[in-house]
Amino acid sequence: MPERLGILGGTFDPIHIGHLVIASYAAEAIGLRRVLFMPAQTPSHKSRGDISPAEDRVAMVNLAVAGDDRFGFSDFDLRSDGPSFTSQLLARVHRELPAREIFFIAGADSLRDFPTWNEPDAILEHAQLAIASRPGTVVTGAMLATVRNLRNRSTLFESPLIEVSSSGIRDRVRKGASIRYLVPDEIERYIRDRGLYLDAGT
Ligand code: ATP
Repeated sequence: MPERLGILGGTFDPIHIGHLVIASYAAEAIGLRRVLFMPAQTPSHKSRGDISPAEDRVAMVNLAVAGDDRFGFSDFDLRSDGPSFTSQLLARVHRELPAREIFFIAGADSLRDFPTWNEPDAILEHAQLAIASRPGTVVTGAMLATVRNLRNRSTLFESPLIEVSSSGIRDRVRKGASIRYLVPDEIERYIRDRGLYLDAGT
């Protein structure tokens, strides 16, 4: 059986426990040998113009994944020429790692707007979806019927809902509130030492 590889793409500005928990539950439920955290270039769907430099986001991802040998960091998206759509990114991962069975990890809320993603058919051609069920989003048959092959290329897994977001963390840092327990200790230290997220608008 081919080795199963998970991909968790994101801005990771900063990486937080929500990302780590969903990756860990996906690995366990689907039998992923590894989950690669793949920071994105400036993503098209974000309105913030000032995402932290890739150098800081990469350093934080590396610190966060270092303690878990199922987890790894990938600069696959960062080293491409410009921002990529998920479909393009997964096509490249598939080309470079043809022997792996690739699972793109996403929350159930993403499933709802999956048909509006760029080239959903191409995404499903190159990867399967690992969908974290989330309280508040019931995955219906209708949601799985929106795109051909979506149903047989999706695996649902249970994951606890941890209502933490990178934007919420940035807000708290700006207000001088604690982010302890929302991010691993090393990330909290890194953010403090570098003075990240103190300026308005970040
Ligand atoms: P922001 O608040 O800046 O929008 P974010 O916290 O959503 O950021 P991203 O880096 O954009 O973080 O997320 C990467 C991936 O992780 C996305 O697929 C997103 O749905 C998922 N994710 C983010 N936060 C959580 C969470 N608390 N629980 C489960 N999945 C999450």
